[in-house]
Amino acid sequence: MTIAVIGVGFVGLVTAAVFAKFGNTVWAINRDEKKSSALKRGKLPFFEPGLEELVKDNVRSGRLNFTTEYSKAIPPADIIMIAVGTPSAADGTADLSAVFAAAKSAAPHLKKDAIIIIKSTVPPGTNDQVKNIVKKHTSANFHMASVPEFLREGTAVEDTLHPDRILIGASEPSVIKRLLELHRPLSGETVIMKPESAQLTKYTANAYLATRIVFINQIADLAEKTGADVQEIIRGIGLDNRIGLHYWWPGLQYGGSCFPKDVKELSAYAKRVGEGDGLFEKIDRLNEARLPKMLAKFETAVGGWKNKTIAILGLSFKPNTDDTREAPSLKVIPVISAGGARTQAYDPQAIQSAQRFLEDKINLYASDPYQAVRNAEALIILVEWDEFRSLDLNRIKKLMSANPVFIDTRNLYNPETVTEKGFKYVGIGR
Ligand code: NAD
Repeated sequence: MTIAVIGVGFVGLVTAAVFAKFGNTVWAINRDEKKSSALKRGKLPFFEPGLEELVKDNVRSGRLNFTTEYSKAIPPADIIMIAVGTPSAADGTADLSAVFAAAKSAAPHLKKDAIIIIKSTVPPGTNDQVKNIVKKHTSANFHMASVPEFLREGTAVEDTLHPDRILIGASEPSVIKRLLELHRPLSGETVIMKPESAQLTKYTANAYLATRIVFINQIADLAEKTGADVQEIIRGIGLDNRIGLHYWWPGLQYGGSCFPKDVKELSAYAKRVGEGDGLFEKIDRLNEARLPKMLAKFETAVGGWKNKTIAILGLSFKPNTDDTREAPSLKVIPVISAGGARTQAYDPQAIQSAQRFLEDKINLYASDPYQAVRNAEALIILVEWDEFRSLDLNRIKKLMSANPVFIDTRNLYNPETVTEKGFKYVGIGR
């Protein structure tokens, strides 16, 4: 098949490369000519494990093409995938303007019976809005479908090749048949459902995962008050088959490019349809309120930020990505810096990305963790990159100033081991 993918961000680029790998001809459309020519040379705008090779291979084979011109990419396309961003607007609702703009630009070039798939995360009802926009700009017959994306940054290529499930949100039998054929090479169960169900499933999944984080953070706070250890509690509940050991991440708060905006939109959507009983709003509020509380706890442990040197390990929103959207670093570092501390930071991939937002709020961009901790009074691990899991604690102790504080917001270390090495250990819920 010939596919046009609109938007070459995390979802669009990975999707385009994976469908090209399976023998389709793919045109990936973005707005920036410079980005397109860089991509043609195999230069990616962001870091994602395994993606560079995949893009290069498929560009070389001629199956993956990049362009800024809708008039080139859309006319041959059997399938058009909209994979543009849907960030939070100022009022917390999903800003769908990029989805509408992409649909409008594609419309005049559609070939007969093309299928427009919305992969971006959008609320139920969006397909009809897009359909109306497209209808105004074409006389060609076309079809709408919703195939929400579930990939995770850091494992996006693997997740796209081997998804847990593929939701085909479509109602016309001929469209369902073509979409089943398109997704056939991907492993993972395919579930056919109404487009509205597919769209609401995406929000449900993200809101549920976000809720688990808020929930375990609440338990972590109780654990701290009672002398319990939240990691022990996780094991205790997780061995119950109904609960499971996976996906319990006590920490500062949930962040990243999806959970915060999707919970906010679900909360707004519930209100729009007259079902705003406040659950999702409360989750969002509890999450937002947690960070200042945690920062106050760290400040007390350090004895105030003023004139201290603080090392920060991890600037991305999670490991194996350079994405810093809604990353803890963007909220934590400005507070520490405004409190009068000198900050020294290290991240394996996200320094450039963080620099755009943090600029001079970081005094030293270190080339490794050991340079970052030099002469610091405290070290804060913000992200569970693998290389932070087995740091040489003896070396770090020697490099830091006297009586160092070890703030482990990901609970990577055993508190006793760290304490024995001469640090004051501060974890989450332990
Ligand atoms: P992104 O910000 O990384 O990429 C969006 C891309 O769309 C950008 O390259 C932007 O330039 C481009 N774009 C915007 N308007 C355009 C237009 N009119 N024409 C062409 N290109 C245009 O976003 P993302 O992280 O890839 O997310 C895309 C969608 O997928 C969002 O709705 C998001 O919620 C959802 N999603 C994201 C993830 C994730 O982990 N990032 C996972 C699942 C779903």
